[in-house]
Amino acid sequence: MISPGKRGFCNTRENIEGKLYTLIYGSCISTGSIDPVEKKPLYHFWPGSDAYSIATIGCSFRCQHCQNWEISQSHPDSNGEFAQFKQKDQTNFGARSFPLTKMTPEQVVSNVKRSKSRSIAYTYNEPTIWYEFIKDTSILAKREGIKNILVTNGYSSSEANRDYIKFIDGANIDIKAFSDKFYKEIVGIPSIKPVLETAEFFYKNGVHVELTTLIIPNQNDKESEIRELIQWVINKLGSEVPMHFSAYRPMYRMNEPSTSSNILEQYYEIAKKEGLQNVFLGNINSKRGNHSICPSCGEIIIHRHGYSISNKNLTENNTCKKCGSKIAIQGEITSSKARFF
Ligand code: SF4
Repeated sequence: MISPGKRGFCNTRENIEGKLYTLIYGSCISTGSIDPVEKKPLYHFWPGSDAYSIATIGCSFRCQHCQNWEISQSHPDSNGEFAQFKQKDQTNFGARSFPLTKMTPEQVVSNVKRSKSRSIAYTYNEPTIWYEFIKDTSILAKREGIKNILVTNGYSSSEANRDYIKFIDGANIDIKAFSDKFYKEIVGIPSIKPVLETAEFFYKNGVHVELTTLIIPNQNDKESEIRELIQWVINKLGSEVPMHFSAYRPMYRMNEPSTSSNILEQYYEIAKKEGLQNVFLGNINSKRGNHSICPSCGEIIIHRHGYSISNKNLTENNTCKKCGSKIAIQGEITSSKARFF
């Protein structure tokens, strides 16, 4: 509940004389940028295509390791035209302020069409706090045949999720850890439960879902916890759901050492042995963990080097050229696209 004259935890909603207003409708950190869809990361959703990426400020979480803390922890002015990063404690992150760019849903969609991107990704900060703008933009985009992607922490209500499934086509959902303790202490919210409910609901209602877990040494990297997470994915979503384990680097208020490649490779092995078919490793170079591999015959289907992809063994019908097995990929592949980022 937000008292009159106050703003919510996300910094972007205000109770003005008993009515709740969003202060960031159409407030963007820039006019948008074109990213490979692999950067979201979505590896099995229109592989090789471009995702026109837009973001605002604020977040429903307070992750101590946030990579985008300058935008996620900023506050808008009352017109949503300016953002300020303020700190309550005595840390040395330094106050920052920057202007926001106002856009209408029509302007966003027209930019996307001009860029010839396949999709719009609502990304970088938590999209759910931008819900009204995303809904209006997504509905327009859908009419133009453009796909809509959420890169989300999954902390959305069942009411919001029931609406989302009408216009969201793909989502990468962050599972920050498989414990309430981590969510309480590192993220600042009481429980993981709503996040898991969102993942399950999206998946069961036809949204293409991929999951990402950033492995942070000493915080969420216990083998028993990772095994529990893998079992949950298999039991509640299914073994085909792409699961990304990514390497953490010290950031914002988190000072744990960087994740070693060894531990990620170990979790790759465990996840495969437990039965997950599409496991990927992020932020490291891995012989196996960067590529899509046929779960039946073990051939590389899509080879990735950074964000560049090449089609090795995928047919037009998304089956394996070598053994004919169906590969759980949504949409067509844009082959052999070289990208330099
Ligand atoms: S949910 Fe994402 S954007 Fe929000 S604080 Fe956590 S890492 Fe940052």
